[in-house]
This record gives sequence, C-alpha cells and structure tokens, in this order.
Amino acid sequence: MEPWLEDGIMRIPWIKNPIIDLELFVRDLIDFARRDWDHLKLEEHFFPDDIVKIKKRKHVVDLDDFYIWKHNKNGDFSVKSAYWLACEINRVEINSLAEVQPSINILKAQKALSGALGVTDQLRHRGMKLDGRCQVCGKDGESINHVLFECSVARKIWAMSHYPSPENGFDKGAVFSNFHHLLVNRDNKSWPINIRKSFPWILWRIWKNKNLLFFEGKSFDARQSVMKIQEDVDEWFLAQRKDRMVDLNVDTLNSSLGGLIASAAQVHYLPDPLPIWKPPLSGRLKCNVGMSWSTRNNLACSAWVLRDEWGRVLLHSRRSFTNVTNKEQAVFLSVLWAMESLISHRCTKVLFALHDVSLIGLILRPIAWPSFKYESTELMRCLGLFLEWSVVHELPLANRGAYLLAQSVTAECRLNSYVASSYPSWLYGLFEHERLASSV
Ligand SMILES: [Zn+2]
Repeated sequence: MEPWLEDGIMRIPWIKNPIIDLELFVRDLIDFARRDWDHLKLEEHFFPDDIVKIKKRKHVVDLDDFYIWKHNKNGDFSVKSAYWLACEINRVEINSLAEVQPSINILKAQKALSGALGVTDQLRHRGMKLDGRCQVCGKDGESINHVLFECSVARKIWAMSHYPSPENGFDKGAVFSNFHHLLVNRDNKSWPINIRKSFPWILWRIWKNKNLLFFEGKSFDARQSVMKIQEDVDEWFLAQRKDRMVDLNVDTLNSSLGGLIASAAQVHYLPDPLPIWKPPLSGRLKCNVGMSWSTRNNLACSAWVLRDEWGRVLLHSRRSFTNVTNKEQAVFLSVLWAMESLISHRCTKVLFALHDVSLIGLILRPIAWPSFKYESTELMRCLGLFLEWSVVHELPLANRGAYLLAQSVTAECRLNSYVASSYPSWLYGLFEHERLASSV
C-alpha cells in the first residue's frame, strides 16, 4: 500500500477493516457513472475523518492520470516557482520535500509520484537509506544541481537543445548561479526567442525523466527528450499566437460593437473598459453569476440573473451550498450550478459574465490550470450542452445585481432557493438603472 491521501504529508488512509485488500486501487473507490467517489465503498473501508479528507479531492474520470506542479496555485510549472523551490531545497533545514502529484485516479500513479522531487541527497538528509549515487551516471552525491545541470544526460539535453551555457559551463554545485544564468538571459535579445525562452521546458523534461527513471525504471535518451522539449516549446508559442489572434479579433469586434463583448462559441477574458453592465448580442442571453462565501459557517451563496439583449431581466435565481471550505470551490459550484440551471430552462445561447478571473482562466486555457482539471472538465462538459456560449469577465460594479442577490442569502440567512421571473422588487432601482444605461 502506498500513501495517496494528502493530509499535510502523503499518507495511507486509516483502514478500518482488519483484513486489508492489497489489490484495492483508488479507481475501485470511484463511481465512474456519477463521476464522484463511491460513498458506500469509502465508508466500507475508511474512518469518517479520512473520508472527509478523501472527498475534498475531486478526480477527473474522463482523462488519464496527469502531473501537477504543486508549487503554483494553477498546478502548472513556472520558473519562478522552480527557483523558489531550489532555494527551499538548499536550505539546511528542509521543512518538506517537494513533490509532484498526479490525479488520484489510480494508486499506481501515486506510488510513482508521492515523493517525486526527492533526489537521493535530500532523501538521505531525511534519514532514508538509499544509494547516494546518481541513478543515471553513477556519480556519488545526487543533488538538485547534479540532476538539472551536471549529470551526463542533463548536459547532453542542454547541448542538443542549443541552449547557450555560461562561459565556463554550468556551475558544478551552485544551483543558484545556474538559475541566475537562465533568468538573466530570459530577455537577452541577442539570443533567438525560441532558445532563450525554452529553458523551463528543458528543466521540466530533465526533472521528469529523472523521476520516471527513479520511480518507474523508464529511461529516455537525450534525443527523444530534446524532440519532446521542442514540441512543447512550439506548442506554447503557437498557443501564444492563437491568444493574440483572439485578442485582436475580440478587440476589433469590441470596437465595432461599441464596447460589446460577444465572442460566439468561444471563450475569452477581456475586462470591460467601463464598469457598467452591457447587454448581449441580439438573439443571445446574458447570465451574470454572483457569489458570496462566508468563512464563518462555510456557506456559499450563489445567484444568477438572466437578461436579454434589451437588458430586461427574464429570470433570476439563488441558492446556497453548505460545507464549502474555500472560495475557489464556492466559485466553481456557483458557476456550474448557473450553467446547469440555464440548460434546464432550455436557454442554449448564453453569454456568461463572471467576476472570477481564475475561473475564466481555467475555462480559457485548461492546460495552464492542471490543478483544476476536475473543475475545467466539469464546466466544459456542461458548456458542451449549449448551442452557443461564451464567457466574459465582469467587473464588480457591473455584476452588482447578481452579487447583491447572492449576498442577501448569507447576510440575511435566506437559505431557501428559488427561481423567479424578472428581478426581486428590492432590486428594482438597480436593474432598471442598468437596463436604461445599457440602452443608451
Ligand atoms: Zn548523474
């Protein structure tokens, strides 16, 4: 049995049965039809405290296991976080081992990854008896610097990637000076942009290869790795170009429509130039989603307001979610609920106006938000039911109606949920003002 429950450290959940099924996989605990944990099976095997912790982590049932980088909120690798990590690792007293974790679908993957950045020097510091030699080249003392810059395979990969090394080669032993070289040359205009910007993928690939060798016995040659790095870099540059093209298109559209943002069947994040509510394009509906979350009682209150192209409120709704332990979860539940509600009302051409930038980011570029793959998968699954949809960022001032509705649940404990036509009478002034202002 391998540790797969994240509880400060990775550990095995406490198993309540005296006879342990060694063949039990995490996937056996998942109800794939419901895309959720199988609650009965969890109760059969584990204690209530651990069940709460297990349920906190949602899994993505439609995809294979994937890696996330734990040191960024979005789960994606960045040089800044790698640099921070290098500093942490080099401190004399290391508080915790850096680790990469996959999704929690399959126990086997957890086994491979539960201590992924533990180079043997670090593991030995922690009292684990390991062969201190590098598993690749056999050199004594496998440090982070050795793995990333000094080891024979790493050196080959740097060379074959045509990344210029420092004048006297990468420093043997000083990970800081090597990172410094990468960071100062990031904007070195005398190097081709594809080269100077490629180092995050080189580091990532070297590090990933090392872990695959260490934990799974898989080896990769330098040529394969360099090809993969090149693909990743190209993909990234392509994505940047696509983003710029979308920027351009939406800007053009935006100006030609006098400030309207409506990219049909496409998502895009672009702040409004003026924080006033604006109607959707003709034939579409606009849904503003508001959320208010109370830390005191872990209560998330959500509301949505649906308006037409003339700014008339067609429907509004609100509801609350209990046991919501963080704001990200509150935002996700609110938006998913709003989308599902509109589908149930047969509204299929909708512009969703959301205040949360992160949520828009994980819909826009899920690849950059691996930590939120469950959320992005669920949202995209729901959006797939719409004929046309788009997502825009709404500034707080333009989202006031939905926000005030949501807040009324938390502030006044109006916990009953409902859907109603038009707006509530106490918000008459606000919605009428927005309707008139938007028609000017
Ligand atoms: Zn080595």
